[in-house]
Amino acid sequence: MPELPEVETVVRDLRPVLIGRVFLGVSHGELKLRHAWNPDWNRFIIGSKVHSIERRAKWIVIDLGAPGTVLVHLGMTGQLTTQPADFPMADHVHLRFQCDAGMDLRYRDIRRFGGAEFHAGPNGWKERLKQAGLGPEPWDMKKSDWLAALAGSRRPIKSILLDQRVLVGLGNIYADESLFQARIHPLRLGSSLQPKECGRLLVSACSVLDRAIASRGSTIRDYVGGSGLRGGYQESLAVYGREGMDCGACAGTVVRQVISGRSAHFCPSCQPIEPGGSGSGHVVP
Ligand SMILES: [Zn+2]
Repeated sequence: MPELPEVETVVRDLRPVLIGRVFLGVSHGELKLRHAWNPDWNRFIIGSKVHSIERRAKWIVIDLGAPGTVLVHLGMTGQLTTQPADFPMADHVHLRFQCDAGMDLRYRDIRRFGGAEFHAGPNGWKERLKQAGLGPEPWDMKKSDWLAALAGSRRPIKSILLDQRVLVGLGNIYADESLFQARIHPLRLGSSLQPKECGRLLVSACSVLDRAIASRGSTIRDYVGGSGLRGGYQESLAVYGREGMDCGACAGTVVRQVISGRSAHFCPSCQPIEPGGSGSGHVVP
């Protein structure tokens, strides 16, 4: 599933080629996407120029100025790429925005958990994302808010990191990598973490995300950036997807354990459960 670095890479790839382009037409397939396109939106889109492209959490925000904003979510397997308009159509392309200068913006999604929405006016998209109750970007998280969020939680830290209402952008890959870098066991309860561990974890999350963005994200299966190129950070993963392999930092072995229905990958030697702490290894449902 694309996480923050993958979505950021799509945005950075699209910016130089899509800003200033004018949408000339929109067509969509028959199969329903989780975020289904409504053809009533086409009249707002057609003739509109792309002013800017930003990312908020895992959403791609395409600002069309006065008419409104297109929001794209990549779901599990979404790909948003630009291509020459005469380029053959791949399987699973569900949305096609025809642009001037002979270019297409195409949305491809095998599992159809993503899609695109249009929100009219300058603030429609902000209202939409407000409803989602998104927390701050990791780099914008205030340390006092972070400490309070963890201190007040009896959930495993891995589950807290995945909760987009607390902090946006981390999915399974980067939550596991952040916990490894901070040397914190994924089952430790939020309330069991010392302030210095909380601080170390936030710094680790930001640094893992920065490095992943610099490598254009991780391609585990389907992800490609906005130019169609795959990511490279999968080569640098320390624990995610490395069950049974040697830990790169000690003589231990990486293990996988299911926590609240999600796989967690970690090194039990580098990330011990604190003896006597409230992170006893007990799984909180
Ligand atoms: Zn280790």
